[in-house]
Amino acid sequence: MEFPDVGYKLSYRNVKYPRLEFRTGELLLVLPFSHDPNAVLEKHRDWIRQKIEFMAESLKDSSEKEIVDRTHEEFRSLVHFYVQEVSGELGVKVNKVFFRKMKTKWASCSPKRNLTINSLMRYLPEHLLEYVIFHEITHLVEKRHSDKFWKIISGEFSNYNEFETDLFAYWFLIHKDSTVRKLNLH
Ligand SMILES: [Zn+2]
Repeated sequence: MEFPDVGYKLSYRNVKYPRLEFRTGELLLVLPFSHDPNAVLEKHRDWIRQKIEFMAESLKDSSEKEIVDRTHEEFRSLVHFYVQEVSGELGVKVNKVFFRKMKTKWASCSPKRNLTINSLMRYLPEHLLEYVIFHEITHLVEKRHSDKFWKIISGEFSNYNEFETDLFAYWFLIHKDSTVRKLNLH
């Protein structure tokens, strides 16, 4: 199996599903232990190709993006503004909003309906900040990335695919000088 233009390394670990990691400029494909590595690769071929292409595209894009400069206060009030707006729009209640630095995701929501925002979102352009908040609050309506979930998302952001790609580009840009570049893939 070949992926032109993109170098990657393989690692077999005790994981349930294949995943891609990106550390220090190197793409690592983590696969579950298997008696037949080729079968695993073959089975997930399209998925791997798709993710690697997406990752390569994001890396390329990141060189054309610029980090946004805003204060912590501006950032927090923007987040609270969109949480209010989106939860009203989707008719769901968000319990609390927490801010902390997270290593693998932009934001998350808990079963207690708490929203955790990665403080690195401070550097995102406003439309992406709004998108991440909308995405997370939609998870309070639909937990999984199901058809129903993406239908709600596309009702508001018809270009959500572009936004998802941009979020990767920004992730790489923000972590340019860091060893942590792993971002959970959908
Ligand atoms: Zn999600």
